[in-house]
Order: sequence, then C-alpha cells, then structure tokens
Amino acid sequence: MPDNLSASVQYLKSVGPKRAESFRKIGISTIKDLLFYFPTRYLDRSTLLNTVKVLQYVINGYVGEVTVIGKVVEKEVIRYSRKQLLKVKFKDKAGNFECVWFQGIKFFKDIFNEGEYYAISSKPVLTRYGHLQFAHPDFDRLADEESDDFLNTGKIIPFYRLPKELRSTNIGDYSLRRIIRSCVEEYLVELPETLPEFLISSNNLPGLLEAIRNIHIPPDKSSLNDACKRLKYEELFFIECLVALKKNKIKNILKGYAFSTPKDLLKDFLKTLPFQLTEDQLKVLSEIRHDMESSKPMNRLLQGDVGSGKTIVALIAMIIAVSNKYQAALMAPTEILAMQHYNKINDMLTDFPINVTLLIGSQKKTERNKILESIKNDETNIIIGTHALLEGDVDFKRIGLVVIDEQHRFGVAQRSALISKGNHPDVLVMTATPIPRTLSMTVYGDLDISTIREMPKNRKNIKTYLRGEKKLPDIYKFIIDKRKEGYQSFVVFPLVEESEKLELKAAETHYKELKETYLQNLNVGLIHGRMNWKDKEEIMRKFSQKEFDVIVSTTVIEVGIDIPDANIIVINDAFRFGLSQLHQLRGRVGRSDKQAYCILVTKDESAVRSSQFKYDFEFLSPSQIEKNKSIIRLNALVNHTSGFDLSEIDLKLRGPGDIFGTKQSGFPELKYADILNDTELLIKAKQDAFDIIDDDPLFHKDNNKIIKSTLLKRYSSNLKYYSIA
Ligand code: ADP
Ligand code: MG
Repeated sequence: MPDNLSASVQYLKSVGPKRAESFRKIGISTIKDLLFYFPTRYLDRSTLLNTVKVLQYVINGYVGEVTVIGKVVEKEVIRYSRKQLLKVKFKDKAGNFECVWFQGIKFFKDIFNEGEYYAISSKPVLTRYGHLQFAHPDFDRLADEESDDFLNTGKIIPFYRLPKELRSTNIGDYSLRRIIRSCVEEYLVELPETLPEFLISSNNLPGLLEAIRNIHIPPDKSSLNDACKRLKYEELFFIECLVALKKNKIKNILKGYAFSTPKDLLKDFLKTLPFQLTEDQLKVLSEIRHDMESSKPMNRLLQGDVGSGKTIVALIAMIIAVSNKYQAALMAPTEILAMQHYNKINDMLTDFPINVTLLIGSQKKTERNKILESIKNDETNIIIGTHALLEGDVDFKRIGLVVIDEQHRFGVAQRSALISKGNHPDVLVMTATPIPRTLSMTVYGDLDISTIREMPKNRKNIKTYLRGEKKLPDIYKFIIDKRKEGYQSFVVFPLVEESEKLELKAAETHYKELKETYLQNLNVGLIHGRMNWKDKEEIMRKFSQKEFDVIVSTTVIEVGIDIPDANIIVINDAFRFGLSQLHQLRGRVGRSDKQAYCILVTKDESAVRSSQFKYDFEFLSPSQIEKNKSIIRLNALVNHTSGFDLSEIDLKLRGPGDIFGTKQSGFPELKYADILNDTELLIKAKQDAFDIIDDDPLFHKDNNKIIKSTLLKRYSSNLKYYSIA
C-alpha cells in the first residue's frame, strides 16, 4: 500500500510545487505534517453577536470585546484637520456598524472590498451620532459560502497561523482552510492510532482520527474540547511513560551498592556538631539511609529552602559511603561554593580519618595532576569540586555516592556525566529552589523526593523591605548603626554590563564610591565574578573573620555562601533579578539567631508606593500580570519568606513555557498540554503510565505494543536519558 501520509503536500489539490515549497519553509513537507498543523483559534457562533445585541450591550455599559460578522457596504477615507481616517461600513441582518482606522489607511483600504464578509472582533463604542463603531479591530475574511454556513448552521471556523511564506504564494485564510480541509477529508483515515484502545475508552477520549478531524472541522464546541483533551492526554501520557521507564530502570533493573550504616561513627560525628539536627533533617536522613542500605541505586532529590541545612545531611550521606570504603563526590556550581564546602567539611572532619580534596578548574596543572592521582588510587575519600569533576581525566577509583548541590544549575547531560563515572552510584541531588508539585511530578517524576520544610530552631524570619534609591543614605546609616551590634552586610549590584571589562568597572566604581562616601569608616571589601578563585576565597575568608564589615559584590554570592554574622543584604536595582535569584540572594543572610534584613532597592519610586498593595493572582488578568510582573515579583518577596510559596508564585509568573527548557531537564517540550491548567489530566496520565510500566515494563503484552512503537517513533532522542528496553 502506498504511504500517502509521507507523500509531499505538493500533490494535494490546489497546492503544486510552488506552494509546496512555501509549506516546506514553515516545516510542513508531508501530508501528515499538514494534518498536524492545527488551528490557533476558532470563530465560534456562541461568541458571535448581531448588531442589535451589541448595541444593547454597549448601552448597558458593557466594555468587553465582541465578535460580529458583516458585509462591507461602503468605504471612505475622511480628512479632518490635516489628518485622515479610513471608515468601512458594514451591515449584518440586524443592522449596521462601522470600523475605523487612523493608521495603515492605505493597507486596510485595499483589504476590505464591497460585498465581502468579515468577522470583526474588538471593543465596541457608540459614536456621538449613535453609530456602533470599532476602532482598529481584529478581523478575518470569510468566504461567501462560509459565512452562510457559519450563520445558518453555526459551524465553528478554524483559523490557522498564516506566516508570510504562505501568504507570498497567495494562500489566504480561506484557501488554507480549504487545502487543509480537503487533506483531512482524503487522507486522515490513513493515520494509525497511537494510543492503546483500553486507555482511549477508560479515559473517555475520542480516537486519534476523530480527534484530528474535530480539531480541523469541529462540529461543535464540546467535540472540539474532547479533541484537545485527547491530544493533551496523549502528550502527557507518553512523557510520563519516559519518566516511569527511567524510574523503573533505576529501581528494578540496575544494581547499586548496599551500604551499611556506621552507627557509632555517626554518633561520634553528631556529637562534634554545635547544634542538634532538626526533625526534618533527621527525617530526610532516614530516607537517604534507607536508600543507601538498599541494593538499588538511590536517585533522590533533597529540597529545602536556603539555609535549611542540606549540606550537613549530604555530608552524613558521604560519611556513610566512605565508611563502606567507597568514594563520595560533591559537585557545586561555582568555585567559591565548592571551596566553602571544602573548608567547612574539612573542618568538621578533622578528628576523623577521612581525606577530603578540592578539584576546581583554576588549579595549576601540577596540583591538579597530584589530585587526580589521589582520586585514582583511592587516597582521597571525599572529592569536592565544580564541573571540573566532569573532565575526562578525572578517574575515580570507586565512587559510591554522587551529590550534586544546586542541581538546577546543571543540565541533565552534566549530571549524568558525573554519575556515569561510577557503576550506578547512589545519587543525591539538592536544590534550594523548591519544585512546585506539578513539576516535581513531571520533570522530576523519576526522583524520590525528600523535603526539609523546617528551618533550624534559632532562625528568625528575614525582614524584607522595598525602598527607592532616595533612601540609600538612610540604608547606609542603618548598616553603620548595626555594625555596632556586630552585623556584617552585603551590598549587591547586578551585572548590568555584558562585557567583562565593563562589569568589573561597574563593581569597582560602586566599591570606590561607597568606600569614599557613606561607608568611609567601615572596612569594605569587593568581590566580583572576574576575580580568580584565590582572591575570592581570600576576600570571603577575611569577611568571615570579620576583617571586613561590608562586602560589595556582583551576584557571585548568589548561591550557597554561608556567613552567619552577615545579616543585612542590600540589593540594588532589584528589578533586574528573577524571583528565585532574589530569594537565593536573600538567603545569604538570616543564617543565625539574629534578626536579619533584606533591603530591595529600586529607581522606580512609583513601584515603591504600589508595593503597599498586595497583589492577588485571583484578581489579576493575564495581561495585568504581564504588565506588573516585576512589581509582583518584588512584592512577593516582601510578603513571603518561604521558598515554597515563592516558587509557586514564580511558576505562575513565568508560566510553564520556559520551565520545560529542554536543556535543563532533558525533557520534551509540551506542545498541547499546560501543566498549570491541565493538572488533573496530568495526574491521570501519570497514573496510567506508571501502572502500565509497573506491570509490563518491556511492553510485551499485545495491548501495550502500540505504546512502545509510539515512544520509539516520537521520543527516540529523549530515550537516551530514559532507557527503553
Ligand atoms: P543550605 O540548605 O542552604 O545549603 P546550609 O547547609 O549551608 O544551608 O546550612 C546553613 C547554616 O545552618 C550552616 O551554617 C549550618 O551549619 C547551619 N545549620 C545546619 N543545620 C542546623 C541545625 N540543625 N541547627 C542550627 N544550625 C544548623
Ligand atoms: Mg547549600
């Protein structure tokens, strides 16, 4: 049987070589491609009004958008006081209305021709002559027979994206609709089903043919909705299959190390700590211990707000691995953070026979070679580093545990590069950016999750303020006053400049200025991204030993830095930062029992005034959210201290779009579903996928074969991370 679906669109009625080429330019080569070119919106009778109804609405004070269909009866260009406007008059069965344009007059004048039908969507107004008027409306041209169809039978009319490539070969809305419609009529039947029958019926979904047909030619709204639901479900189902397969591989196929817990050693270690672990720390530790003792590889995400004490938990896990004669590696996103972990962990382990090394990119060759040697021959037990650990020449003797700090800073490829240096080691990834529930179910669904919610007991909530730049003198005075109580401060300037030289200059200028003016009687240090690690370390060491009262910095202090007496952070140009970044920055303070302060500074005084006002998503439209994003962000920070709350807000602000960045998650982008709004469907799809794969991971059952073939066809490039049998 000839495969028509993979034939070129060229052979469709009224396409031909020229138009086929224009389709190819927008990514449509085959008939199947065209079947999957979906409308972006629909004109629907239920949203359509006649002119009399619209008039009633307007008179009663309605100010929203409406859609009317009318036939062009007249057009004229009217001049008034050296300007001009285009007025096009329309009529429908009930009455008349007019549309006006003040710009693009020439262009629009040629578009509207007498006798043609248009659907007009916009906010209606009443002119002083009592005419119903639309200014610069959205419009769609309808062919005569379509408008009859539409008006008489209530059909829904689809609108497709019409890129200039298509328009340049004279394809308009109407002709594109006709081409696609005839393609659907003729070839859709050949499209094979992609979901097993039992899932289609148990979820009350239309079959693929019905769904695609109804997307293009919807007989009514509810069939259209069902069609969309089917496509969303299918997308989520297969993505969850990838997740389930990965989890299944780790849990049931791979063999890892079964560590035993050195109880006495741990007791001794805990005794050396100046504090007691919190309940949550103990809880996550027992989850981690359970995984480590099992012979299945651990694949666990440890999430906990900034300052919740994740490092100590990771260290205990590393001690378990080491006491079982395995090595443990800890990878951090920046050199300064790796160094801090190294110093702290080294200190904490001085009384224990455990060797710790640091491996970062900026070490000298001879030094590096020595370290590599010690890693290779097992002289060193805990290896702490940056992505320098990923280099090919880093050869672990026997790595049993991989810990990745601030995991969202690394891509999947990097994470798996480190993991694959061992033979299915236990893996613990940590994040201070809590993952909203829907996301943790999807992108991170293969991970087991441990959560630290409770902060160490001694902590007070950080007081957060938004202030205009005018207040800077007061803010610096506050820093000076608090200095007397032993407070140290960070003053952060964002990286405004892309270029390294300029960035350096900006940081240095601010630093000099502060040192010579407001902060002349304090010891001020400077730290920025262009310094080498030794200099950075030196500055941070001096800061932690109180040789500096204030550190002026770019965002290098963003992640993980832990200095208990630094309890004030001033963030300049706070509008420039993202929400989670601000929360991370704020997390640099408030790490002891003292009251900490975070002061967000902005040039925008009106934003400061409006920050009195608490934004509530329930009452904001998407466009209002879009317009006020940066104020909402700063507001959220002022009003919320929990990173969990903030991450939910962040998700709402950013929308799910950029969360599925493939580079971060190794995850396919969602085309149809939206995890914020399709949560129920997601939960169901996930349940179905996990049930099937638990029961039949290799898709041996006849009913499930179709799942395997769809996965292989559609997601072969993702499967390298999600191993399928
Ligand atoms: P994060 O989770 O952000 O990585 P850290 O692990 O750096 O946080 O811990 C923040 C600070 O809290 C460190 O100085 C650490 O020693 C301290 N800390 C950790 N656990 C406790 C606890 N149970 N009680 C008091 N302080 C703690
Ligand atoms: Mg940390």
